[in-house]
Amino acid sequence: MFAKLSEKSMHLVRWILTVSWLFLIASLFYDPISLWLTQPETNWSPFNINKITQFECVKVQGTCLNEEPFGMGAALFWGMIVPAAIFILMIGGHEVWRRICPLSFMSQIPRALGLQRYKRVDSKTGKTRYERIKVHKNSWLGRNHLYLQLGLFYLGINARILFINSERTILGLFLIGTILASILVGYLYEGKSWCQYFCPMAPVQKIYGEPRGLFNSAAHEGEGQKITQSMCRTIDSQGQESSNCVGCKATCMDIDAEKGYWANITKPEQQWLYYAYFGFVIGYFVYYYLYAGNWEYYMSGVWAHEENQLSNLLNPGFYLFNHPIAIPKLVAAPLTIGSFGLISYWLGKKLEKRYKAYLFRNNKLVNDEVVRHRMFTLVTFVIFNFFFIFAGRNFVRMLPVQIQYLFPIIIALSSGIWLYKTWPRNPYIYQRENSAVRLRKQLSKLNVNIPEFLDGRSLNDLDADEVYVLAKILPGFDKQKRLKAYKGVVKESISEDSFAIKKDSDVLIQIRLELEISEAEHQLIVEEVMKQLSAEKAKNAEVIQQEHSTNSKIETLSL
Ligand code: SF4
Repeated sequence: MFAKLSEKSMHLVRWILTVSWLFLIASLFYDPISLWLTQPETNWSPFNINKITQFECVKVQGTCLNEEPFGMGAALFWGMIVPAAIFILMIGGHEVWRRICPLSFMSQIPRALGLQRYKRVDSKTGKTRYERIKVHKNSWLGRNHLYLQLGLFYLGINARILFINSERTILGLFLIGTILASILVGYLYEGKSWCQYFCPMAPVQKIYGEPRGLFNSAAHEGEGQKITQSMCRTIDSQGQESSNCVGCKATCMDIDAEKGYWANITKPEQQWLYYAYFGFVIGYFVYYYLYAGNWEYYMSGVWAHEENQLSNLLNPGFYLFNHPIAIPKLVAAPLTIGSFGLISYWLGKKLEKRYKAYLFRNNKLVNDEVVRHRMFTLVTFVIFNFFFIFAGRNFVRMLPVQIQYLFPIIIALSSGIWLYKTWPRNPYIYQRENSAVRLRKQLSKLNVNIPEFLDGRSLNDLDADEVYVLAKILPGFDKQKRLKAYKGVVKESISEDSFAIKKDSDVLIQIRLELEISEAEHQLIVEEVMKQLSAEKAKNAEVIQQEHSTNSKIETLSL
């Protein structure tokens, strides 16, 4: 749905968000305005410290915290901006977020300035050329980037609890450091390598954005569209949008998130991603309780403007049954979050096995992709609701009372619809929809009045199964026509991409089976199409050559 928003308007949105974010970062260093808004004397301000303080006394390890007026930059960042990003991912889909993310935008500064690293390539013919550098899919980074990103995410949430939840200057430096790191990666590697291989938020984007957000467009159902989802794009000299993809990642999320999801779902790192993330998030919020000895500390939001966060690093990190435990906070926080992550990973794997065994015992469909997809879907649904309905309460409590009641309803409803739509998906449905698009296109080329057989519905109104049923029962769609339609699909696939026969083999097999076309017939068609396409190519080259020589003659005559 959002993939079609024009690049021009998204570019403007990116600029606005980037400037706003930089403004917020600047406010972390110097901010007289919001400090003034939180002063007790600023009676009219809704952010007056006396109005936003919800508890008489917020105790941390048995002692009441002294709440002072504060600059609101950190509270805004943690309480509004980070949750808003998660909400956008799950509801709008990654195709919105990845087109407006300010960090992704800034990682492209070296590309925009033409300041990227090149490598020298000497060809066998002695020619030398310079190429920009991509992360190779078989390099250490190419194979392990998800572990690296999950590790950075773990460090990030620990850094929040220990250093940057309320220390505004350190948070500002942390954000500037992240921006500089993204620019450096943009210099070192081609494309959106920061987002693909380094960004600590990428695991979060994958969890909430795959296989697709609630209003995500489906890349595989667009009829031959060249620019899909959040694919890198640019505006050419004619003012038209064109792809700017340099292929920095195989199965790129920005091109087709669902394709990448199914392609990788059985890999072990996906279990780490979903199950460990679930544990990290639960562990992160539970730690507030284990540290303070109550939930008020977290629910009051005081942690986002607590004075002297750094001075507590070596103080007791746990407070249980009214007793401090002499493990420093510096150790206790990573220990808690890490243990929750590991336990959750272990539990997730166990439950996955049990669920598979249950399906097997009950003679239901047993398939690794489906089992894992359902587990991942459930994990995403639960953690999304936990995050917003429970963990988000501290900031929701500041909203007008009507919105406070409406908020959980919106969250439960939207995530419920997401669950309903996502649960039944599987790779076969994806494949079938993909192949049905191509078949639909060929059927529309037949000289048959199709709406006559569809009670007035058009071909585009049919879902994948209906398209196949139609192909079977359509009067006059005999073997000859089926071969012709199949040839059209093959020709289109090869014209789009010369490796299509290899890449699209699953799609083509599906169509072939449905149209009852044998392997031998398929081979003959492929050969015929290849010959036809090379003949067309040669003819085109001849025409261009002729035009070129005619133009040269005209130029000579005019001289
Ligand atoms: S669309 Fe292309 S350039 Fe952009 S992130 Fe994906 S693979 Fe990289």
